[in-house]
Amino acid sequence: MPQPTSLAQRDHAVLWHPYTQMQTAPLPVPIVRGEGSWLIAEDGTRYLDGISSWWVNLHGHANAHIARRVSEQLQTLEHVLFAGFTHPAAVELAEQLLEILPQNQARVFYSDNGSTAVEVALKMVLQYFHNREQPERRTFICFRNSYHGDTFGAMSVSSRGAFTAPFWPLLFQVEFIDVPVPGREAEVLGQLDALISRPDVAGFIFEPLMLGTAGMVTYSAEVLDEMIRRCHQHGVLCIADEVMTGFGRLGHLFATDYLTEQPDIMCFSKGLTGGTMAMGLTTCAAPIYEAFLSSELMKALFHGHSYTANPVACAAALASLALTRAPECTAQRARIATAHAAFRQEMEGQPGIREVRHLGTVLAVEYDPGEDTSYFSRLRDGFYQLSLEHNVVLRPLGNVVYLLPPYCTTNEELDLLYTVLRAMRELVLNFAPALTLPEYLHD
Ligand SMILES: *Cc1c(COP(=O)(O)O)cnc(C)c1O
Repeated sequence: MPQPTSLAQRDHAVLWHPYTQMQTAPLPVPIVRGEGSWLIAEDGTRYLDGISSWWVNLHGHANAHIARRVSEQLQTLEHVLFAGFTHPAAVELAEQLLEILPQNQARVFYSDNGSTAVEVALKMVLQYFHNREQPERRTFICFRNSYHGDTFGAMSVSSRGAFTAPFWPLLFQVEFIDVPVPGREAEVLGQLDALISRPDVAGFIFEPLMLGTAGMVTYSAEVLDEMIRRCHQHGVLCIADEVMTGFGRLGHLFATDYLTEQPDIMCFSKGLTGGTMAMGLTTCAAPIYEAFLSSELMKALFHGHSYTANPVACAAALASLALTRAPECTAQRARIATAHAAFRQEMEGQPGIREVRHLGTVLAVEYDPGEDTSYFSRLRDGFYQLSLEHNVVLRPLGNVVYLLPPYCTTNEELDLLYTVLRAMRELVLNFAPALTLPEYLHD
């Protein structure tokens, strides 16, 4: 357990942390430095960052190449408004992205984070139909367990889970379908078919191939291709939310690289700047963009944030993208995928393990804690403490523990992560039957 420090206590006096019950949460771990895959605490303790600091970091902490490029940009142009003005980094980043995104993507719209990238995508769809005088098309189809962000539009197209319960009455109505996990494809295609011929359906938004917050739940490229094909046959626009999956997480640069069909709109953030700065962007195909072109001002997209296309964030993204596109990074991702595949083989079918899911650099172990669901949240706390004791940062999602490491994570460092996952299985096996908690979990 991290010892209380002055920084943590000062934090406790003035701060309010995200997704945290401030009354019962332990003091936060004070991190003063980052170095590759490691986070270094005030007292010198080193923690291996097994989840890329909430899925954002790609090339390690305090990366020298990104730091240099950001520093140069800071001394050249820190910011300029993006209505009526432009700057080199914004143009260059858009040009480079359109080179590597699915061929139909034609325009880049900047915003601030993943949630705003989703908001912009939803507005693009709704106003596309509004501008084309089909305002009755305004219903979105989403996956039942999806997560697309914390702003109101993004919450509306996300799972109606416990976290958003206080806001349910204010969220707009959507149509939920199940995730077409292996074995359920035909059933879910049927659910989709029942919706897409309706005159009010406008768009289908999805996390391609892997639903992150749902517990790294995977489904096949074949079924997603079929879903996109069917949506397009009915004029329903498809939004691929690549906020988590983008920039190499699933092996290929983008999850949509596994597809033959192309989405109409795509959302990015998280790894976009290599985990350096907040930035989001939404891209779209030409027909979407063209529906906003008119001699009438009111057909324009009236959405923008003060920091739209911030030059420093664009510079970080350019620097990170250069690293991501280098052959060394492709090799790193392949190496992590190979190690994950071997570990999956080792774990699958063992007692205490319900399922192991793996795609690219992401691996998730779903532990089997038996039937008593009251045990789940305590198990999560046990997992969390166990990882900190091993000097590893992981954030279990209930009984699912996932690895989503920076690409620079070495094989030795991966071994440390696997050791913790093995220890978690022991924890499940030893404590689940008796529902006894480990000693350090007195609450
Ligand atoms: C994290 C996430 C978001 C929200 O991004 P923020 O930058 O946290 O607002 C949206 N969609 C997906 C798939 C995500 O994983």
